[in-house]
Amino acid sequence: MSKLISGIHHVTAISGDTQRNIDFYTGVLGLYLVKQTVNFDYPEVYHFYFGDKQGTPGTIMTTFPYGEDARMGRHGKGKISTTAFSVPYLSLNYWLKRLEHFQILYKHPQERFSGSEVVVYFEDHDGMGIELIFNDADNREPITNGSVQSEYAILGIHHVELWLESYELTAALLTEQLNHKLISESSGTLRFGVENSPGKFVDLLGMPNSMKGLEGRGMVHHVAFSTSDEIKLKGLKENLLSYGIAPTSVRDRNYFKSIYFNEPGGILFEIATENPGFAVDEDPDRLGQSLKLPLQFEETRSSIEKKLIKFNYNPTEFKLLQ
Ligand code: ZN
Repeated sequence: MSKLISGIHHVTAISGDTQRNIDFYTGVLGLYLVKQTVNFDYPEVYHFYFGDKQGTPGTIMTTFPYGEDARMGRHGKGKISTTAFSVPYLSLNYWLKRLEHFQILYKHPQERFSGSEVVVYFEDHDGMGIELIFNDADNREPITNGSVQSEYAILGIHHVELWLESYELTAALLTEQLNHKLISESSGTLRFGVENSPGKFVDLLGMPNSMKGLEGRGMVHHVAFSTSDEIKLKGLKENLLSYGIAPTSVRDRNYFKSIYFNEPGGILFEIATENPGFAVDEDPDRLGQSLKLPLQFEETRSSIEKKLIKFNYNPTEFKLLQ
């Protein structure tokens, strides 16, 4: 029988300006805009899904661009501090040059896990913590929307990094309920994963002396783990209930079904189904090219469209001339 959890499904963040958000994730990073829809609870704001062309679980970063006036969040314990993307080991010089070209400040490259990976940290325009993990362990297809050459392109999400008061209870939840195991440990970072491959990792850091993190612009709102279908989702929900955690009811997010719960360190976790996926309301070859609304908003589409900020999506403008 396949595992209940197969890895990371998506990461969702709170962002600021719409155009800068599109430019950063599709232009600088080279991800596809897989879906443009709205926040189902607040339809004046977009909900963007970025990822590979099909929106495969493990490649998806989603954002709510609330505008520059949205309250800034704060990095700290009880939050996801970093979303890491996987890139080929040989692409280090290319990415440093690329970040410099787009005037994005980055921290000097560092080795992690005995040199098996090299890490470069930088932030998006809202202060969201991003890492590129240069490694040779990722066999996924490069994500190439035209802005980054395929040999250097992002391969998907690598891991998320959680800052916690203490990691023990979160580690227990991951191993006892979400079929993770300890993969490795290095300099205070404990890496858990459903298996030892990029896109399936969760890094835990005990950070008792850090300030408490605050939700807001530039912060990850939640991480979603992937399960195959609704039967497994309901099974996970029952298991969590008997473990003493109370997830929400099953929510219909159009492209997947979900439950949400706070893990013991206070970070919001979601479990999302792999089906039906992003082609449920759009031609699979034209994903992300027009605004898609759930049925309840179709009646008021024209007034919703008027309130939404227009943006340009043209990632090839971000191609670096060699
Ligand atoms: Zn989500």
